[in-house]
Amino acid sequence: MPELPEVETVANGVDARVRGQRILSVWTSGKPQTFKTPESEIIAALTNARIDRVHRVGKTIVADLTAHNKQPTQFLIHLGMTGRLLVSQSEVPLPPHTHLVLSLADGRELRFVDPRRFGRLSLAQQPYLGPGAEPTTISPDDFAKLFRGRKLAIKPALLNQSILHGVGNIYADESLFRAGIRPRRAAGRLTRAELDRLHAALQQVLAHAIKLGGSSVSDYVDADGIRGFFQLEHKVYSRAGQLCLDCNTPLKKLTLGGRTTIYCPICQR
Ligand SMILES: [Zn+2]
Repeated sequence: MPELPEVETVANGVDARVRGQRILSVWTSGKPQTFKTPESEIIAALTNARIDRVHRVGKTIVADLTAHNKQPTQFLIHLGMTGRLLVSQSEVPLPPHTHLVLSLADGRELRFVDPRRFGRLSLAQQPYLGPGAEPTTISPDDFAKLFRGRKLAIKPALLNQSILHGVGNIYADESLFRAGIRPRRAAGRLTRAELDRLHAALQQVLAHAIKLGGSSVSDYVDADGIRGFFQLEHKVYSRAGQLCLDCNTPLKKLTLGGRTTIYCPICQR
């Protein structure tokens, strides 16, 4: 599943390619589970609209749209497990499992392709703010407040989208390792110094992954079909049983909140 850096990479890639374009026509596949807003409403809102900006909110890609004589609208794209956005020339054959095609004024098409159909397309009438706090910009003070009094372990707390949105399994494990904090520690019992280290580690790891173009652990590819390469830098994620890169101790694996969690029993306290 794409995480925040992958979604941001896709959003930035699409923005660079389609910002300012007018949508001439809209084709949809008729697969109901993909469309959280009825297809007829999506077609009506997008046809003849101009794409002012494409950006990320949480793990959702948001296209800001304006159209003559219509209220500004946002088109929300959630990639789910296997969703991809592709900017293609119209003569390129449609890949299988294409669910949406936006024909743009310059002759190109923005396509949404999703074999497993966990992706979701919808409209928002109000500015979409996402379910939780934004991890890439939150201040250390506000970050510390999120976890005050919470009894759940810090790892599932990081994954809880209503607390902090966009952080998934990879970046939770990687930031806890870099902050030297055991994933099973109660979130509300962490000291302010530990929370400050975690805040710094999380923002660092996310910024670095965004810079490198996201992770390619799943079959995620960005708008041009180019794979990201953050996986080369994983220190703990998917390395259970291998030696810690910092202290040479075998990394341990446990399940927390149903998710595989990898940590170093020496470096993380
Ligand atoms: Zn270690």
